[in-house]
Amino acid sequence: MLNIGCHLSVSGGFENMGKEALKLDADTFQFFTRNPRGGKAKDIDKNDTDKLLVLMENNNFVKILAHAPYTLNPCSSNERTREFALETMEDDLKRMEYLPNNMYNFHPGSHVGQGVEKGIEMISQTLNKVLWEEMSTTVLLETMAGKGSEVGSKFQELKAIIDRVELNNKMGVCLDTCHVFDGGYNIKDNLESVLEEFDRVIGLNRLKALHLNDSKNPLGSRKDRHEKIGEGYIGLDAFKAILTHPVLKKLPCYLETPNDLDGYKKEIALLKSF
Ligand code: FE
Ligand code: FE
Ligand code: ZN
Repeated sequence: MLNIGCHLSVSGGFENMGKEALKLDADTFQFFTRNPRGGKAKDIDKNDTDKLLVLMENNNFVKILAHAPYTLNPCSSNERTREFALETMEDDLKRMEYLPNNMYNFHPGSHVGQGVEKGIEMISQTLNKVLWEEMSTTVLLETMAGKGSEVGSKFQELKAIIDRVELNNKMGVCLDTCHVFDGGYNIKDNLESVLEEFDRVIGLNRLKALHLNDSKNPLGSRKDRHEKIGEGYIGLDAFKAILTHPVLKKLPCYLETPNDLDGYKKEIALLKSF
């Protein structure tokens, strides 16, 4: 059976997200660890996170996915910006231990003209500072669209980051369907060869999650504009092939499409019908 959820708001608390997911017939969800524009996160209410853990257990949830603020840039040319990314990730990962054995996804960063190599070096340095041996969270690098100077739109770049991380047994990859399509990987017409390439370069054992989004733009456009499933350039047939693929169908899926809760509920039902 397909394990699927969507992006939810953490503002009502953790247990509340679990309840919302149930109403959508989801068995997982994604949330921002704090306001995506940065700033301080609310103190963790252990009573609330414990209630979510019980709800997840009772309803056979699969791993939930925390998403770092997308404004973080661990490979900025500005030292204070890099420090802020490090401090935020450090704090987020400590807080994730209140919800043990789940996943944390982040956008690798933008090298802002310093070059991809330098970017890769800085991102892996940050990871080497924030990961620790006993942590229970799996940290995911998201495949990026390649907008501006984004690092991580090529599988080789993600692999190069992982290779430089000492505790890389903590690391995985989240494949965003809109982003890889924007990055030029043709999951619409050549899904199998894209997956072969992923396996050859990174290894499919590193693939831990899918962000399901259609794209408002054609293949290779590097724009990162999400569309509702079936209403963009990727199209419904491609999502059918993705969700019935022997490797991919076992992965937890998170929708980040432009939808309200009712729209998400319909998309979840549609995708489950495959
Ligand atoms: Fe993302
Ligand atoms: Fe995404
Ligand atoms: Zn995106």
